[in-house]
Amino acid sequence: MCSGRVDMAFVLRAFSKGMDGVFIGGCRLNECNYVTHGNYHALNMVLLLKKIMEHIGLNPERLSIEFMSGAEANLFVEGVNGFVKKVKEMGPLGQGEGVGQEELKSRLADISKLVPYLKLVNQEKLASRLENPEEYDGLFTKEEIDTLFREIPSYYIDPDKCQACMICAKKCPVEAIEGGKNRIHVIEQDKCIKCGTCFEACPPRFGAVTKISGEPVPPPIPEEKRAIVRKGKEK
Ligand code: SF4
Ligand code: SF4
Repeated sequence: MCSGRVDMAFVLRAFSKGMDGVFIGGCRLNECNYVTHGNYHALNMVLLLKKIMEHIGLNPERLSIEFMSGAEANLFVEGVNGFVKKVKEMGPLGQGEGVGQEELKSRLADISKLVPYLKLVNQEKLASRLENPEEYDGLFTKEEIDTLFREIPSYYIDPDKCQACMICAKKCPVEAIEGGKNRIHVIEQDKCIKCGTCFEACPPRFGAVTKISGEPVPPPIPEEKRAIVRKGKEK
């Protein structure tokens, strides 16, 4: 119903499913019926995603947002026709950019996994209300996006500190933490979406979750060494 409902993940899913372009039609800016002004959220999301597309080697012109009222069918038709023509000229997604299908799939999958993190770190800008189109280009800069990707954190559980209280595993939204009773917990890096919940949730008296930026994550402790033997229960 509202363009503000169009999540970054929806657009990435469309590209992952083979769409060559995504067009979003929203109500005119400042004419939203609600206090939420969701069309600004849609606009800011598009501005961010266009910069991310550039970062991963995709033509940002494959994503477009236009604003119009329900009575402006002519604008809708012109907008869609113009966009379809442009996308046809660009050619199929990936092919137009010289990126192979497997590589394309993997780049889109990597970004899709990061959507919650990207939304979290950019939440202030994503909620802002731009005054005029001149401001659009400056909302997210290339340098900012490069830094953002360079500084993406990873989370690691220090096996010497984990007390297997299981709190982090229960709170992880994507079941990326392997553990169990009396077992040192381990983060499956391939599943982790960098939300930081485990970092916040691990009780300070244990402080077992570490946030790592710009460095490789230590390898996970081997399965056979994960059992925790409590004092008094040793044979
Ligand atoms: S940061 Fe922690 S809680 Fe969040 S997805 Fe990764 S392992 Fe799970
Ligand atoms: S919350 Fe901390 S101590 Fe508890 S299982 Fe997770 S990492 Fe280990």
